[in-house]
Amino acid sequence: DRKLSQVDPEMYDLVTSESKRQVDGIELIASENFTSQAVMEVLGSCLTNKYSEGLPGRRYYGGNEYIDQVERLCQDRALAAFGLDSSEWGVNVQPLSGCPANFAVYTGLLNPHDRIMGLDLPHGGHLSHGFFTPKKRISATSVYFESMPYRLDESTGIIDYDTLAKNALLFRPKLIIAGASAYARNYDYKRMREICDSCGAYLLSDMAHISGLVAAGVVDNPFEYSDIVTTTTHKSLRGPRGGMIFMRRGGEFGDDLLNAINGAVFPGLQGGPHNNAIGALAVCLKQVAEPEFKTYQEQVKKNCSAMADRLIELGYDLVSGGTDNHLVLVDLKNKGIDGARVETVLDACHITLNKNSVPGDTSALVPGGIRIGTPAMTTRGLKEEDFVVVADLIDRGVKIATEVKAAAAGPKLKDFKECLASSPPEALAQLEE
Ligand code: PLP
Repeated sequence: DRKLSQVDPEMYDLVTSESKRQVDGIELIASENFTSQAVMEVLGSCLTNKYSEGLPGRRYYGGNEYIDQVERLCQDRALAAFGLDSSEWGVNVQPLSGCPANFAVYTGLLNPHDRIMGLDLPHGGHLSHGFFTPKKRISATSVYFESMPYRLDESTGIIDYDTLAKNALLFRPKLIIAGASAYARNYDYKRMREICDSCGAYLLSDMAHISGLVAAGVVDNPFEYSDIVTTTTHKSLRGPRGGMIFMRRGGEFGDDLLNAINGAVFPGLQGGPHNNAIGALAVCLKQVAEPEFKTYQEQVKKNCSAMADRLIELGYDLVSGGTDNHLVLVDLKNKGIDGARVETVLDACHITLNKNSVPGDTSALVPGGIRIGTPAMTTRGLKEEDFVVVADLIDRGVKIATEVKAAAAGPKLKDFKECLASSPPEALAQLEE
């Protein structure tokens, strides 16, 4: 068989360029990481050729002798990675990613238009937790279910559990989600459980961002209090792109949650599992069980604290005042600049992070903050002192963005981008170096 470089030189060049971009830059997107060579090998293997609708031992296609073993190995390692007993928890490793995993939980456990509550997107929640705007139901979750978001206490940047408790009694949701995409603090899972019990709701913890830290025991563990736990597999867990759903078994539920959610994944939402991703996930989960993984996650957290401390020293306002995990959310309002402009400047010098809404924002395209994460660069070997330098580089980017904003012809982001491209300040070239 011919190699990619011969079959499709155009794609070969694109992959080579992206590979170089990933190596050359400073990757600070909190949801990204560099997975291992061993994981990549399975991802690019023959496992991708096989259809295996159904679950191990109960397939709709022949020839699944080895695929069954792959999926069972993945399930066993998934439970082991989070210290779970198979008599108390089941796991589905087939969700194609985080959104499909969440949607499988909703469609498996709820009826159309049942009520749910998740953290509001502008306050750090995820689209798939039911986001809508006054003009439009943006996420399918908010189209097919009735969603009432809960929010942060804007004075502290911490989840406003008291208001959530009051609203849950009025709204009476069937499911409440604990989990976020841009929340630097531990969730109070015990409090979330109490709130769910007060209104008879399921507690779904979406630990997508923090699952690696949970597996290593360096952040609070959602399993004790949750009925269902979902996660992506490619963020702090450092695996291939994918999703997992953990469902409580035994006791009041028996196998009800397990059967309902397994059925929602297939045949409800998906067809054939991506066996190459499941095999690759099994390899990731083997690596999660190694002592180095705990050391890595400890370092992710230490690096994040070091960066947070330095940013505070430099006069930055962190939402919630600090961090307990792998990310910080910076509110740039006191610096007179927004997240979109800072992201643009840093992008120009190969420092990749994302603009992010912070409490009080009205625009998601030009929001007031940035989200910075440490998992990817910790994989690359950076330590606390390096993240102090990273904070300094970001600070230089913020200063350049402020300068360019003042020099731009008009107030629009387009004017800013034109100004940056046509007359880049000298400092930008230095930062790029
Ligand atoms: N849940 C949370 C908390 C997330 O942050 C994300 C993605 O960023 C998802 C779910 C969705 O994952 P995916 O992009 O794999 O669908």
